[in-house]
Amino acid sequence: MARVNNIIGGKPHISQSGRTAVLYNPATGEQNGEVGLSSASELDMAVEAAKAALPGWANLPPLKRAAVMFKVKYLIEQNFDRIADAISAEHGKTHDDALGEVQRGLEVVDFACGIPHLLKGEFSRNVGPSIDSFSDRQPLGIVAGITPFNFPAMVPLWMYPMAIACGNCFILKPSEKDPTAVNMIAEFFMEAGLPAGVLNVIHGDKEVVDAILTHKDIKAVSFVGSTPIAEYVYHTGTANNKRVQALGGAKNHMVVMPDADIDKTVDALMGAGYGSAGERCMAISVAVPVGDAIADKLVEALKPRIESLKIGPATDAQADMGPLVTQQHKDKVVGYIDAGEKEGAELVVDGRGLSLQGYENGYFVGGTLFDRVTTDMSIYKEEIFGPVLSVVRADSFETATKMINEHEFGNGTAIFTRDGDAARSFADSIEVGMVGINVPIPVPVAYHSFGGWKRSLFGDHSIYGPEGIRFYTRLKTVTSRWPDGIKEGAIFNFPTM
Ligand code: NAD
Repeated sequence: MARVNNIIGGKPHISQSGRTAVLYNPATGEQNGEVGLSSASELDMAVEAAKAALPGWANLPPLKRAAVMFKVKYLIEQNFDRIADAISAEHGKTHDDALGEVQRGLEVVDFACGIPHLLKGEFSRNVGPSIDSFSDRQPLGIVAGITPFNFPAMVPLWMYPMAIACGNCFILKPSEKDPTAVNMIAEFFMEAGLPAGVLNVIHGDKEVVDAILTHKDIKAVSFVGSTPIAEYVYHTGTANNKRVQALGGAKNHMVVMPDADIDKTVDALMGAGYGSAGERCMAISVAVPVGDAIADKLVEALKPRIESLKIGPATDAQADMGPLVTQQHKDKVVGYIDAGEKEGAELVVDGRGLSLQGYENGYFVGGTLFDRVTTDMSIYKEEIFGPVLSVVRADSFETATKMINEHEFGNGTAIFTRDGDAARSFADSIEVGMVGINVPIPVPVAYHSFGGWKRSLFGDHSIYGPEGIRFYTRLKTVTSRWPDGIKEGAIFNFPTM
Protein backbone atom coordinates (compact mmCIF):
# COMPACT_ATOMS: atom_id res chain seq x y z
CA MET A 1 0.00 0.00 0.00
CA ALA A 2 1.41 3.45 -0.95
CA ARG A 3 2.47 5.52 2.01
CA VAL A 4 2.64 9.31 2.10
CA ASN A 5 5.52 10.64 4.19
CA ASN A 6 6.64 13.96 5.57
CA ILE A 7 9.17 16.19 3.81
CA ILE A 8 11.57 17.65 6.35
CA GLY A 9 14.74 19.50 5.43
CA GLY A 10 14.21 18.63 1.77
CA LYS A 11 14.14 14.87 2.42
CA PRO A 12 11.38 12.30 2.88
CA HIS A 13 10.77 11.56 6.53
CA ILE A 14 8.81 8.54 7.73
CA SER A 15 6.78 9.35 10.81
CA GLN A 16 7.70 7.16 13.77
CA SER A 17 4.57 8.03 15.73
CA GLY A 18 3.02 4.65 15.02
CA ARG A 19 -0.24 6.34 14.02
CA THR A 20 -1.53 6.39 10.43
CA ALA A 21 -4.68 7.39 8.52
CA VAL A 22 -6.05 5.31 5.66
CA LEU A 23 -6.46 6.96 2.24
CA TYR A 24 -9.53 5.85 0.29
CA ASN A 25 -10.56 5.98 -3.34
CA PRO A 26 -13.94 7.69 -2.89
CA ALA A 27 -15.29 6.26 -6.15
CA THR A 28 -14.76 2.64 -5.09
CA GLY A 29 -14.40 2.75 -1.33
CA GLU A 30 -11.10 0.86 -1.68
CA GLN A 31 -8.02 1.70 0.36
CA ASN A 32 -5.53 3.63 -1.78
CA GLY A 33 -2.76 3.99 0.75
CA GLU A 34 -1.96 5.51 4.09
CA VAL A 35 -0.39 8.60 5.58
CA GLY A 36 1.66 8.83 8.75
CA LEU A 37 0.24 11.05 11.51
CA SER A 38 3.16 12.98 12.95
CA SER A 39 3.91 13.69 16.58
CA ALA A 40 4.91 16.95 18.27
CA SER A 41 8.57 15.86 18.33
CA GLU A 42 8.46 15.39 14.56
CA LEU A 43 7.13 18.93 14.22
CA ASP A 44 10.18 20.02 16.24
CA MET A 45 12.38 18.42 13.59
CA ALA A 46 10.61 20.41 10.86
CA VAL A 47 11.02 23.63 12.88
CA GLU A 48 14.75 22.92 13.32
CA ALA A 49 15.12 22.39 9.55
CA ALA A 50 13.27 25.67 8.92
CA LYS A 51 15.44 27.49 11.47
CA ALA A 52 18.61 26.31 9.76
CA ALA A 53 17.35 27.47 6.35
CA LEU A 54 15.92 30.80 7.49
CA PRO A 55 18.91 33.20 7.56
CA GLY A 56 20.11 32.22 4.08
CA TRP A 57 16.62 32.32 2.57
CA ALA A 58 15.43 35.52 4.25
CA ASN A 59 18.57 37.34 3.12
CA LEU A 60 18.54 36.07 -0.44
CA PRO A 61 17.72 38.89 -2.89
CA PRO A 62 14.00 38.73 -3.70
CA LEU A 63 14.88 38.39 -7.38
CA LYS A 64 16.57 35.06 -6.59
CA ARG A 65 13.56 33.90 -4.58
CA ALA A 66 11.40 34.85 -7.58
CA ALA A 67 13.65 32.75 -9.83
CA VAL A 68 12.55 29.65 -7.90
CA MET A 69 8.90 30.63 -8.45
CA PHE A 70 9.43 30.94 -12.20
CA LYS A 71 10.92 27.43 -12.31
CA VAL A 72 8.10 26.00 -10.19
CA LYS A 73 5.57 27.57 -12.51
CA TYR A 74 7.18 25.72 -15.43
CA LEU A 75 7.27 22.40 -13.55
CA ILE A 76 3.63 22.63 -12.46
CA GLU A 77 2.58 23.48 -16.01
CA GLN A 78 4.46 20.42 -17.29
CA ASN A 79 2.71 18.19 -14.75
CA PHE A 80 -0.87 19.49 -14.73
CA ASP A 81 -2.40 16.12 -15.56
CA ARG A 82 -0.34 14.14 -13.05
CA ILE A 83 -1.27 16.52 -10.25
CA ALA A 84 -4.94 16.46 -11.26
CA ASP A 85 -4.93 12.64 -11.31
CA ALA A 86 -3.47 12.55 -7.79
CA ILE A 87 -6.16 14.94 -6.55
CA SER A 88 -9.00 13.00 -8.18
CA ALA A 89 -7.76 9.64 -6.87
CA GLU A 90 -8.10 10.76 -3.24
CA HIS A 91 -10.66 13.56 -3.36
CA GLY A 92 -12.94 12.13 -6.07
CA LYS A 93 -13.47 15.36 -8.05
CA THR A 94 -13.49 15.13 -11.87
CA HIS A 95 -10.26 15.52 -13.80
CA ASP A 96 -11.27 18.87 -15.34
CA ASP A 97 -12.34 20.22 -11.97
CA ALA A 98 -8.98 19.15 -10.51
CA LEU A 99 -7.19 20.87 -13.42
CA GLY A 100 -9.12 24.05 -12.57
CA GLU A 101 -7.93 24.06 -8.97
CA VAL A 102 -4.31 23.50 -10.01
CA GLN A 103 -4.63 26.41 -12.46
CA ARG A 104 -6.05 28.71 -9.76
CA GLY A 105 -3.31 27.68 -7.34
CA LEU A 106 -0.67 28.26 -9.99
CA GLU A 107 -1.92 31.82 -10.42
CA VAL A 108 -0.72 32.53 -6.87
CA VAL A 109 2.74 31.27 -7.91
CA ASP A 110 2.50 33.66 -10.91
CA PHE A 111 1.75 36.52 -8.51
CA ALA A 112 4.62 35.51 -6.22
CA CYS A 113 6.99 35.72 -9.23
CA GLY A 114 6.58 39.50 -8.88
CA ILE A 115 7.89 39.53 -5.30
CA PRO A 116 10.77 42.01 -5.90
CA HIS A 117 8.23 44.60 -6.95
CA LEU A 118 5.70 43.62 -4.27
CA LEU A 119 8.24 44.06 -1.47
CA LYS A 120 9.44 47.46 -2.66
CA GLY A 121 9.09 49.77 0.30
CA GLU A 122 8.34 53.46 0.56
CA PHE A 123 11.00 56.18 0.73
CA SER A 124 10.67 59.79 1.79
CA ARG A 125 13.57 62.14 1.31
CA ASN A 126 14.02 65.10 3.69
CA VAL A 127 11.39 64.21 6.29
CA GLY A 128 13.47 66.69 8.35
CA PRO A 129 16.70 68.58 7.75
CA SER A 130 19.00 66.02 6.06
CA ILE A 131 16.78 63.25 7.38
CA ASP A 132 15.39 60.50 5.17
CA SER A 133 12.93 57.78 6.04
CA PHE A 134 12.09 54.42 4.46
CA SER A 135 9.63 51.70 5.29
CA ASP A 136 9.93 48.10 4.18
CA ARG A 137 8.31 44.80 4.93
CA GLN A 138 10.43 42.02 6.38
CA PRO A 139 9.62 38.32 6.76
CA LEU A 140 8.20 37.02 10.04
CA GLY A 141 10.45 33.94 10.28
CA ILE A 142 8.92 30.47 10.51
CA VAL A 143 5.25 30.34 9.60
CA ALA A 144 2.79 27.46 9.19
CA GLY A 145 -0.30 26.52 7.19
CA ILE A 146 -3.07 24.02 7.95
CA THR A 147 -5.31 23.09 5.02
CA PRO A 148 -8.62 21.29 4.27
CA PHE A 149 -9.39 18.32 2.05
CA ASN A 150 -11.50 20.05 -0.58
CA PHE A 151 -8.74 21.82 -2.53
CA PRO A 152 -5.65 19.75 -1.76
CA ALA A 153 -3.50 21.64 -4.30
CA MET A 154 -5.03 25.11 -4.50
CA VAL A 155 -5.46 26.02 -0.83
CA PRO A 156 -1.86 25.15 0.17
CA LEU A 157 -0.77 27.18 -2.89
CA TRP A 158 -2.77 30.14 -1.55
CA MET A 159 -0.34 30.13 1.37
CA TYR A 160 3.23 28.98 0.99
CA PRO A 161 4.28 30.56 -2.34
CA MET A 162 3.41 33.96 -0.84
CA ALA A 163 5.03 33.16 2.50
CA ILE A 164 8.31 31.86 1.10
CA ALA A 165 8.54 34.53 -1.60
CA CYS A 166 8.42 37.04 1.28
CA GLY A 167 11.47 35.32 2.80
CA ASN A 168 9.83 33.10 5.44
CA CYS A 169 10.31 29.37 5.95
CA PHE A 170 7.10 27.35 5.92
CA ILE A 171 5.63 24.29 7.63
CA LEU A 172 2.59 22.87 5.86
CA LYS A 173 0.13 20.52 7.57
CA PRO A 174 -2.22 19.33 4.79
CA SER A 175 -5.48 17.44 5.13
CA GLU A 176 -4.88 13.83 6.07
CA LYS A 177 -7.62 12.78 3.60
CA ASP A 178 -5.84 13.63 0.33
CA PRO A 179 -2.15 14.41 0.94
CA THR A 180 -0.51 13.00 -2.22
CA ALA A 181 -0.83 16.04 -4.52
CA VAL A 182 0.65 18.24 -1.77
CA ASN A 183 3.84 16.18 -1.67
CA MET A 184 4.03 16.11 -5.46
CA ILE A 185 3.92 19.91 -5.69
CA ALA A 186 6.34 20.33 -2.77
CA GLU A 187 8.80 18.14 -4.67
CA PHE A 188 8.54 20.49 -7.66
CA PHE A 189 9.63 23.32 -5.37
CA MET A 190 12.70 21.26 -4.36
CA GLU A 191 13.41 20.45 -8.01
CA ALA A 192 13.18 24.16 -8.81
CA GLY A 193 16.03 24.83 -6.41
CA LEU A 194 14.23 25.76 -3.18
CA PRO A 195 16.85 25.26 -0.45
CA ALA A 196 16.23 22.36 1.93
CA GLY A 197 14.19 23.37 4.99
CA VAL A 198 12.44 26.38 3.42
CA LEU A 199 9.29 24.32 2.82
CA ASN A 200 8.53 21.38 5.10
CA VAL A 201 5.44 19.18 4.88
CA ILE A 202 4.31 17.49 8.05
CA HIS A 203 1.28 15.24 7.83
CA GLY A 204 -0.97 14.63 10.76
CA ASP A 205 -4.13 15.43 12.66
CA LYS A 206 -5.12 17.37 15.80
CA GLU A 207 -1.98 16.28 17.65
CA VAL A 208 0.37 18.05 15.25
CA VAL A 209 -2.02 21.00 14.74
CA ASP A 210 -1.92 21.61 18.50
CA ALA A 211 1.87 21.36 18.44
CA ILE A 212 1.97 24.02 15.68
CA LEU A 213 -0.39 26.33 17.58
CA THR A 214 1.72 26.25 20.71
CA HIS A 215 5.22 26.10 19.21
CA LYS A 216 7.27 29.04 20.44
CA ASP A 217 9.26 29.41 17.19
CA ILE A 218 6.28 29.58 14.82
CA LYS A 219 5.30 33.20 14.30
CA ALA A 220 2.12 32.96 12.23
CA VAL A 221 -0.48 30.41 11.20
CA SER A 222 -2.75 30.37 8.15
CA PHE A 223 -5.70 28.01 8.47
CA VAL A 224 -8.44 27.05 6.03
CA GLY A 225 -11.15 24.57 7.06
CA SER A 226 -14.44 24.31 8.91
CA THR A 227 -15.65 27.10 11.22
CA PRO A 228 -15.41 25.27 14.58
CA ILE A 229 -11.77 24.34 13.90
CA ALA A 230 -11.00 27.80 12.43
CA GLU A 231 -12.29 29.41 15.62
CA TYR A 232 -10.27 27.01 17.78
CA VAL A 233 -7.12 27.61 15.72
CA TYR A 234 -7.59 31.39 15.91
CA HIS A 235 -8.08 31.48 19.69
CA THR A 236 -5.35 28.95 20.49
CA GLY A 237 -2.86 30.49 18.07
CA THR A 238 -3.42 34.09 19.18
CA ALA A 239 -3.31 33.03 22.86
CA ASN A 240 0.16 31.71 22.04
CA ASN A 241 1.16 35.09 20.56
CA LYS A 242 0.89 34.13 16.91
CA ARG A 243 -0.53 36.09 14.06
CA VAL A 244 -3.45 33.98 12.79
CA GLN A 245 -5.73 34.07 9.77
CA ALA A 246 -8.34 31.31 9.98
CA LEU A 247 -10.79 30.90 7.13
CA GLY A 248 -13.89 28.88 7.95
CA GLY A 249 -17.07 27.46 6.48
CA ALA A 250 -19.82 28.99 4.42
CA LYS A 251 -23.44 29.08 3.35
CA ASN A 252 -23.47 31.01 0.11
CA HIS A 253 -26.74 32.49 -1.12
CA MET A 254 -27.62 33.46 -4.68
CA VAL A 255 -30.39 36.05 -4.96
CA VAL A 256 -32.41 35.64 -8.15
CA MET A 257 -34.28 38.82 -9.03
CA PRO A 258 -37.52 38.68 -11.06
CA ASP A 259 -35.73 40.15 -14.09
CA ALA A 260 -32.85 37.62 -14.12
CA ASP A 261 -32.09 35.71 -17.30
CA ILE A 262 -33.50 32.34 -16.24
CA ASP A 263 -31.34 30.17 -18.55
CA LYS A 264 -28.10 31.79 -17.43
CA THR A 265 -29.22 31.65 -13.80
CA VAL A 266 -30.01 27.94 -13.99
CA ASP A 267 -26.65 27.21 -15.69
CA ALA A 268 -24.90 29.19 -12.95
CA LEU A 269 -26.77 27.37 -10.17
CA MET A 270 -26.01 23.96 -11.66
CA GLY A 271 -22.26 24.62 -11.79
CA ALA A 272 -22.03 26.48 -8.48
CA GLY A 273 -24.37 24.14 -6.59
CA TYR A 274 -23.28 20.75 -7.86
CA GLY A 275 -19.73 21.19 -9.24
CA SER A 276 -17.27 19.21 -7.10
CA ALA A 277 -20.35 17.59 -5.48
CA GLY A 278 -20.91 20.82 -3.54
CA GLU A 279 -17.64 20.38 -1.63
CA ARG A 280 -16.49 23.97 -2.21
CA CYS A 281 -16.44 26.77 0.33
CA MET A 282 -17.73 29.04 -2.47
CA ALA A 283 -20.46 26.62 -3.63
CA ILE A 284 -23.92 28.13 -3.83
CA SER A 285 -26.06 26.16 -1.38
CA VAL A 286 -29.05 28.52 -1.12
CA ALA A 287 -30.99 30.06 -4.01
CA VAL A 288 -33.17 33.00 -3.00
CA PRO A 289 -35.66 33.81 -5.76
CA VAL A 290 -37.50 37.07 -5.16
CA GLY A 291 -41.21 36.49 -5.75
CA ASP A 292 -43.13 33.28 -6.39
CA ALA A 293 -43.26 33.74 -10.16
CA ILE A 294 -39.47 33.50 -10.62
CA ALA A 295 -39.26 30.86 -7.85
CA ASP A 296 -41.70 28.56 -9.69
CA LYS A 297 -39.85 29.02 -12.98
CA LEU A 298 -36.51 28.36 -11.32
CA VAL A 299 -37.56 25.15 -9.57
CA GLU A 300 -39.27 23.90 -12.71
CA ALA A 301 -36.12 24.52 -14.79
CA LEU A 302 -33.71 23.10 -12.18
CA LYS A 303 -35.54 19.81 -11.56
CA PRO A 304 -34.84 18.07 -14.93
CA ARG A 305 -31.30 19.44 -15.02
CA ILE A 306 -30.52 17.98 -11.60
CA GLU A 307 -32.18 14.67 -12.44
CA SER A 308 -29.99 14.36 -15.53
CA LEU A 309 -26.69 15.26 -13.82
CA LYS A 310 -24.01 12.82 -14.94
CA ILE A 311 -22.45 11.41 -11.79
CA GLY A 312 -19.44 9.14 -11.96
CA PRO A 313 -15.86 8.45 -10.97
CA ALA A 314 -13.17 10.95 -11.91
CA THR A 315 -12.00 8.54 -14.62
CA ASP A 316 -15.29 9.14 -16.49
CA ALA A 317 -14.59 12.14 -18.72
CA GLN A 318 -18.34 12.77 -19.12
CA ALA A 319 -19.05 13.08 -15.37
CA ASP A 320 -20.36 16.43 -14.10
CA MET A 321 -19.52 15.53 -10.53
CA GLY A 322 -17.92 12.70 -8.56
CA PRO A 323 -18.41 11.14 -5.14
CA LEU A 324 -18.07 12.75 -1.73
CA VAL A 325 -14.72 12.46 -0.01
CA THR A 326 -15.42 9.80 2.64
CA GLN A 327 -18.16 7.43 3.79
CA GLN A 328 -18.43 9.51 6.98
CA HIS A 329 -19.03 12.68 4.97
CA LYS A 330 -21.57 10.89 2.75
CA ASP A 331 -23.46 9.79 5.90
CA LYS A 332 -23.46 13.39 7.13
CA VAL A 333 -24.86 14.75 3.86
CA VAL A 334 -27.54 12.03 3.72
CA GLY A 335 -28.35 12.88 7.35
CA TYR A 336 -29.04 16.49 6.32
CA ILE A 337 -31.36 15.35 3.50
CA ASP A 338 -33.25 13.21 6.07
CA ALA A 339 -33.42 16.23 8.39
CA GLY A 340 -34.69 18.57 5.65
CA GLU A 341 -37.52 16.16 4.88
CA LYS A 342 -38.43 15.85 8.57
CA GLU A 343 -38.32 19.61 9.06
CA GLY A 344 -40.92 20.02 6.31
CA ALA A 345 -38.96 21.29 3.32
CA GLU A 346 -40.28 20.12 -0.06
CA LEU A 347 -37.87 17.53 -1.48
CA VAL A 348 -38.01 18.14 -5.24
CA VAL A 349 -35.06 15.93 -6.25
CA ASP A 350 -33.73 13.27 -3.85
CA GLY A 351 -30.08 12.24 -4.31
CA ARG A 352 -30.14 9.54 -1.65
CA GLY A 353 -29.79 5.86 -2.53
CA LEU A 354 -27.80 6.47 -5.71
CA SER A 355 -25.94 3.34 -6.78
CA LEU A 356 -23.61 3.28 -9.77
CA GLN A 357 -22.94 0.00 -11.49
CA GLY A 358 -19.37 -1.10 -10.75
CA TYR A 359 -19.04 1.58 -8.05
CA GLU A 360 -21.57 0.34 -5.52
CA ASN A 361 -19.20 1.03 -2.61
CA GLY A 362 -18.35 4.57 -3.74
CA TYR A 363 -19.45 7.57 -1.68
CA PHE A 364 -21.91 8.94 -4.23
CA VAL A 365 -24.88 11.15 -3.44
CA GLY A 366 -27.01 12.45 -6.30
CA GLY A 367 -27.95 16.08 -6.86
CA THR A 368 -30.62 17.10 -4.38
CA LEU A 369 -33.05 20.03 -4.45
CA PHE A 370 -35.25 21.33 -1.64
CA ASP A 371 -37.91 23.98 -2.20
CA ARG A 372 -39.76 26.07 0.41
CA VAL A 373 -36.89 25.86 2.87
CA THR A 374 -37.27 28.24 5.82
CA THR A 375 -34.59 30.00 7.80
CA ASP A 376 -35.23 28.01 11.00
CA MET A 377 -34.36 24.67 9.37
CA SER A 378 -30.98 23.00 9.99
CA ILE A 379 -30.48 22.55 6.22
CA TYR A 380 -30.59 26.35 5.94
CA LYS A 381 -28.58 27.25 9.02
CA GLU A 382 -25.73 24.76 8.74
CA GLU A 383 -23.11 24.05 6.11
CA ILE A 384 -23.92 20.73 4.41
CA PHE A 385 -20.93 20.65 2.02
CA GLY A 386 -22.63 18.31 -0.44
CA PRO A 387 -24.72 18.42 -3.64
CA VAL A 388 -27.78 19.82 -1.87
CA LEU A 389 -29.37 23.10 -2.99
CA SER A 390 -32.06 24.79 -0.90
CA VAL A 391 -34.55 27.24 -2.36
CA VAL A 392 -35.67 29.86 0.17
CA ARG A 393 -38.40 32.02 -1.35
CA ALA A 394 -38.23 35.74 -0.51
CA ASP A 395 -41.06 38.23 -1.01
CA SER A 396 -38.76 41.19 -1.67
CA PHE A 397 -35.16 42.26 -2.29
CA GLU A 398 -35.06 43.60 1.29
CA THR A 399 -36.14 40.24 2.76
CA ALA A 400 -33.48 38.48 0.66
CA THR A 401 -30.63 40.76 1.76
CA LYS A 402 -31.76 40.78 5.41
CA MET A 403 -31.72 36.98 5.41
CA ILE A 404 -28.16 36.89 4.09
CA ASN A 405 -26.97 39.55 6.51
CA GLU A 406 -28.43 37.65 9.44
CA HIS A 407 -26.72 34.37 8.51
CA GLU A 408 -23.73 33.47 10.68
CA PHE A 409 -21.51 32.89 7.63
CA GLY A 410 -20.38 35.56 5.18
CA ASN A 411 -18.01 33.92 2.73
CA GLY A 412 -19.48 34.40 -0.77
CA THR A 413 -22.77 35.48 -2.31
CA ALA A 414 -24.20 36.41 -5.71
CA ILE A 415 -27.06 38.26 -7.28
CA PHE A 416 -28.48 37.51 -10.70
CA THR A 417 -30.32 40.46 -12.19
CA ARG A 418 -30.47 42.91 -15.10
CA ASP A 419 -31.17 45.78 -12.69
CA GLY A 420 -28.08 47.91 -12.05
CA ASP A 421 -29.66 49.64 -9.06
CA ALA A 422 -30.42 46.37 -7.31
CA ALA A 423 -26.95 45.01 -8.08
CA ARG A 424 -25.22 48.12 -6.75
CA SER A 425 -27.33 48.28 -3.63
CA PHE A 426 -26.63 44.55 -3.04
CA ALA A 427 -22.87 44.99 -3.42
CA ASP A 428 -22.92 47.99 -1.06
CA SER A 429 -25.02 46.60 1.74
CA ILE A 430 -24.44 42.85 1.84
CA GLU A 431 -22.41 41.61 4.80
CA VAL A 432 -20.35 39.09 2.89
CA GLY A 433 -16.68 39.21 1.91
CA MET A 434 -16.90 38.13 -1.74
CA VAL A 435 -19.77 39.22 -3.94
CA GLY A 436 -20.71 38.16 -7.49
CA ILE A 437 -22.95 40.18 -9.78
CA ASN A 438 -24.16 37.69 -12.39
CA VAL A 439 -21.05 35.70 -11.39
CA PRO A 440 -21.91 32.64 -9.29
CA ILE A 441 -18.48 31.79 -7.78
CA PRO A 442 -16.69 35.11 -7.25
CA VAL A 443 -13.32 33.72 -6.12
CA PRO A 444 -10.93 36.69 -6.42
CA VAL A 445 -7.99 36.34 -8.81
CA ALA A 446 -4.51 35.95 -7.35
CA TYR A 447 -3.70 39.68 -7.43
CA HIS A 448 -6.73 40.48 -5.28
CA SER A 449 -7.28 38.68 -1.96
CA PHE A 450 -9.71 35.99 -0.78
CA GLY A 451 -11.65 36.17 2.46
CA GLY A 452 -15.10 36.05 3.97
CA TRP A 453 -16.75 38.04 6.76
CA LYS A 454 -18.44 37.07 10.02
CA ARG A 455 -17.81 33.45 11.07
CA SER A 456 -16.22 32.62 7.72
CA LEU A 457 -12.94 34.34 8.67
CA PHE A 458 -11.26 34.81 12.03
CA GLY A 459 -8.42 37.33 11.97
CA ASP A 460 -7.69 40.59 10.24
CA HIS A 461 -6.22 39.46 6.95
CA SER A 462 -7.68 37.80 3.89
CA ILE A 463 -5.48 35.30 2.12
CA TYR A 464 -3.07 35.63 -0.88
CA GLY A 465 -2.69 38.73 -3.10
CA PRO A 466 -1.75 42.02 -1.39
CA GLU A 467 -3.20 40.74 1.90
CA GLY A 468 -0.86 37.75 1.69
CA ILE A 469 2.13 40.09 1.61
CA ARG A 470 0.82 41.99 4.65
CA PHE A 471 0.09 38.81 6.58
CA TYR A 472 3.50 37.20 6.02
CA THR A 473 5.62 40.30 6.67
CA ARG A 474 6.07 42.98 9.31
CA LEU A 475 6.69 46.63 8.70
CA LYS A 476 9.94 48.34 9.62
CA THR A 477 10.53 52.08 9.24
CA VAL A 478 14.07 53.44 9.30
CA THR A 479 14.77 57.15 9.81
CA SER A 480 18.36 58.17 9.05
CA ARG A 481 20.57 61.21 9.25
CA TRP A 482 24.22 61.40 8.31
CA PRO A 483 26.70 63.94 9.73
CA ASP A 484 25.73 67.16 7.99
CA GLY A 485 27.53 69.96 9.84
CA ILE A 486 24.34 71.33 11.44
CA LYS A 487 24.75 71.90 15.18
CA GLU A 488 21.50 71.77 17.15
CA GLY A 489 22.69 70.79 20.60
CA ALA A 490 20.56 68.54 22.84
CA ILE A 491 16.84 68.76 22.12
CA PHE A 492 14.62 67.89 25.06
CA ASN A 493 11.29 68.56 23.43
CA PHE A 494 9.55 65.80 21.48
CA PRO A 495 11.19 65.79 18.03
CA THR A 496 9.40 67.78 15.37
CA MET A 497 10.72 68.45 11.94
P1 NAD B 1 -11.65 20.54 8.78
O1 NAD B 1 -11.88 21.74 9.60
O2 NAD B 1 -12.21 19.24 9.24
O3 NAD B 1 -10.07 20.28 8.60
C1 NAD B 1 -9.20 21.32 8.22
C2 NAD B 1 -7.82 21.05 8.81
O4 NAD B 1 -7.92 21.05 10.23
C3 NAD B 1 -7.24 19.69 8.40
O5 NAD B 1 -5.87 19.85 8.12
C4 NAD B 1 -7.47 18.84 9.63
O6 NAD B 1 -6.48 17.85 9.81
C5 NAD B 1 -7.43 19.84 10.77
N1 NAD B 1 -8.30 19.45 11.90
C6 NAD B 1 -9.47 18.76 11.81
N2 NAD B 1 -10.00 18.63 13.05
C7 NAD B 1 -9.17 19.23 13.91
C8 NAD B 1 -9.19 19.43 15.32
N3 NAD B 1 -10.18 18.97 16.09
N4 NAD B 1 -8.17 20.12 15.89
C9 NAD B 1 -7.17 20.61 15.12
N5 NAD B 1 -7.11 20.43 13.78
C10 NAD B 1 -8.09 19.77 13.18
O7 NAD B 1 -12.15 20.87 7.29
P2 NAD B 1 -12.28 19.91 6.05
O8 NAD B 1 -13.43 18.98 6.26
O9 NAD B 1 -10.98 19.33 5.70
O10 NAD B 1 -12.65 20.96 4.91
C11 NAD B 1 -13.95 21.41 4.65
C12 NAD B 1 -14.25 22.71 5.35
O11 NAD B 1 -13.31 23.70 4.95
C13 NAD B 1 -15.60 23.29 4.98
O12 NAD B 1 -16.19 23.80 6.15
C14 NAD B 1 -15.28 24.40 4.00
O13 NAD B 1 -16.24 25.43 3.93
C15 NAD B 1 -14.00 24.89 4.57
N6 NAD B 1 -13.23 25.61 3.56
C16 NAD B 1 -13.18 26.98 3.67
C17 NAD B 1 -12.50 27.70 2.73
C18 NAD B 1 -12.41 29.19 2.82
O14 NAD B 1 -11.62 29.76 2.11
N7 NAD B 1 -13.18 29.86 3.68
C19 NAD B 1 -11.85 27.06 1.67
C20 NAD B 1 -11.91 25.67 1.60
C21 NAD B 1 -12.61 24.96 2.56
